Amino acid sequence: MGNIEFFQFNCLDDNFGVLVHSSSTGETASIDAPDASAVAAALDEKGWKLTHILVTHHHADHTQGVGPLKEKTGCQVIGPDNPSISNLDQTVSDGDSFQFAGETVNVIATPGHTLDMINFHFPAQKVVFTADTLFALGCGRVFEGTPHQMWDSLEKLTKLPPDTTIYCGHEYTLANAKFALTVDGTNAELVARAAEIEALRAQDKPTLPTTLDVELRTNPFLRPADPQIRKNLGMENASDADVFAEIRKRKDNA
Ligand code: ZN
Ligand code: FE
Repeated sequence: MGNIEFFQFNCLDDNFGVLVHSSSTGETASIDAPDASAVAAALDEKGWKLTHILVTHHHADHTQGVGPLKEKTGCQVIGPDNPSISNLDQTVSDGDSFQFAGETVNVIATPGHTLDMINFHFPAQKVVFTADTLFALGCGRVFEGTPHQMWDSLEKLTKLPPDTTIYCGHEYTLANAKFALTVDGTNAELVARAAEIEALRAQDKPTLPTTLDVELRTNPFLRPADPQIRKNLGMENASDADVFAEIRKRKDNA
């Protein structure tokens, strides 16, 4: 609980790294490993030793640091059952739970961006790592799955407690905000948030982590049921999944 600390840092062009550290056991997990040197620098800065890497999906910008970090530290690597991810010590899948530093971590499969995508939920800390499934004001591109599958995955995340803190794989929030305004421009909270985001990015500050309740009120990809968004899209009677798919398509073409 209070003995778990989360440390977010920038790496590569627009990826986030996050370290999860237990002051009770001294263990430290890296959520993905976008860049071994950036993860090592963050560990040095905090004076922490890497013991685990929790891998969300196979993309190189989330896995390329795994090999070098494992070689250097002997850390345990936990991730989805995908043979294209090397160095895994333990594979986990939807509904699994495991212990990190005596704390429960729940595995939520969220296929869509990739088919192997898993998200890590720390229920006691009310924190979830959504990688490239859910972004602040956005969601990942649907590369391997279908839009309907992506909607099912996002819908799972909406069922977490609203005060859940969300860490994401990328700083894409400014572009997401600009797009969000094109489908939900009369949402006063979204308009205010977009201005805040613009100010943060102008100072090169991160816009993450976010929280589920803020996303539920402002992220159009979580709001296909919203009457105003449906009206704006001319899709009053469509299913949530179809409205989501249309929003995703518009963002892809934006
Ligand atoms: Zn990805
Ligand atoms: Fe990514």
